[in-house]
Amino acid sequence: MNAFDKPRAVVIGGSLGGLLTANALRAAGWHADVFETSPNQLESRGGGVVLQPDVLEALAFAGVAVPNPPGVNSGDRIYLDREDRVLEQFHMPQMQTSWSLLYRAMKNALPAQALHAGETFVDFDQDGERVVARFESGRSVEADLLIGADGIRSTLRRRLLPEIVPVYAGYVAWRGLVEEPDLPIFAANMLRDRFAFQDGDGHSGLSYLIPGDDDSTVPGERRWNWVWYRKYGAERLGELLVDRHGEKRAFSLPPGSTKNADIVQLRDEARTMLGPTFRALVESTDDPFMQPIVDLRSPQMVFGRALLLGDAASVPRPHTAGSTAKAAANAHALALALSAAADGGETIDTALRRWEHQQLQLGRRMTDLGISLGNRLMKVGH
Ligand SMILES: Cc1cc2nc3c(=O)[nH]c(=O)nc-3n(C[C@H](O)[C@H](O)[C@H](O)COP(=O)(O)OP(=O)(O)OC[C@H]3O[C@@H](n4cnc5c(N)ncnc54)[C@H](O)[C@@H]3O)c2cc1C
Repeated sequence: MNAFDKPRAVVIGGSLGGLLTANALRAAGWHADVFETSPNQLESRGGGVVLQPDVLEALAFAGVAVPNPPGVNSGDRIYLDREDRVLEQFHMPQMQTSWSLLYRAMKNALPAQALHAGETFVDFDQDGERVVARFESGRSVEADLLIGADGIRSTLRRRLLPEIVPVYAGYVAWRGLVEEPDLPIFAANMLRDRFAFQDGDGHSGLSYLIPGDDDSTVPGERRWNWVWYRKYGAERLGELLVDRHGEKRAFSLPPGSTKNADIVQLRDEARTMLGPTFRALVESTDDPFMQPIVDLRSPQMVFGRALLLGDAASVPRPHTAGSTAKAAANAHALALALSAAADGGETIDTALRRWEHQQLQLGRRMTDLGISLGNRLMKVGH
């Protein structure tokens, strides 16, 4: 079969969901191109990602090679109190990786000519089984499928479901990364090989090790990844979202953008609210950054030959450690459904209906779980 015989997909968004979808569809015999608004290599925002089995299965199906090992193992989970006493400890082996390791692996697996950087999707037309995607540059691309993997602020979703918008959940995740040797030894000894938590009254911290900048998992070359969930009203959130240059950010504060006064205040609060280990993590971080927690769930994922997946379709709260796993499961299941349809003589539309039914259920399960875990942990929404 030559490239012109293959069905064609246009994937909007060149982050984890889009790259994995394109790789998986290519493995299933499709011709798939990715169009990403950013003209440059994407930069990691938060660092850590819990490496769920769904992600590894999807990567294997899509033929994406990952470093060996693809992350850092943690054995025990520990829960610390304000004095660093271990309140609870149990064995729950997991592997944690970094967003950048997954991104690089997925990007390297895609032929360079399949990735179109600096292309902003603006709209599309649909006529029966054909879609035409239109870009700000004036370019238009015809395909059998248009896939919106364009994240929480998805342009495709805004066009298809304008009433579905992210809703602030009442708290944010402060995040940070610390080079492994830069953490005081007492804190490193407490955290090493563990997935650690400290829950307080309406706030909660967690930490684990992830690969270093160059994907290294060698002890001494890794990074400590931490998250501290904090409650803020809408007004305080609005103030925090003004960055160090006085610019109001719409959705989050990426690394390097938090105002100095807010970093100082975060460190002060860490001194009174956190135990010595988590306090050391916050104090050792040069540029903590912040992401408001939001809820978003689309009631529909397939619209003829246009579809939504990953964060564009629904966003589980991070307590599920599941956004990347859900995007991977969406992509993998789509490729399997389309190849099964081709093998069984079914139409693409029948395959899409079945895929949508399963993936909507997955999205509902994960968003429900995230809301219930988060509201209980943070004492919000009651
Ligand atoms: C730069 C970046 C860094 C991240 N770092 C982390 C991290 O360290 N830890 C973590 O847990 N999660 C991180 N995330 C979020 C994580 O990737 C997602 O929560 C999850 O993996 C689902 O991915 P997604 O591809 O569906 O959505 P996203 O990762 O949000 O990707 C959406 C992509 O679509 C692009 N896009 C948006 N609109 C358009 C348009 N109109 N035309 C073309 N392209 C468009 C965006 O630039 C983005 O690359 C990051 C996301 C990004 C974009």
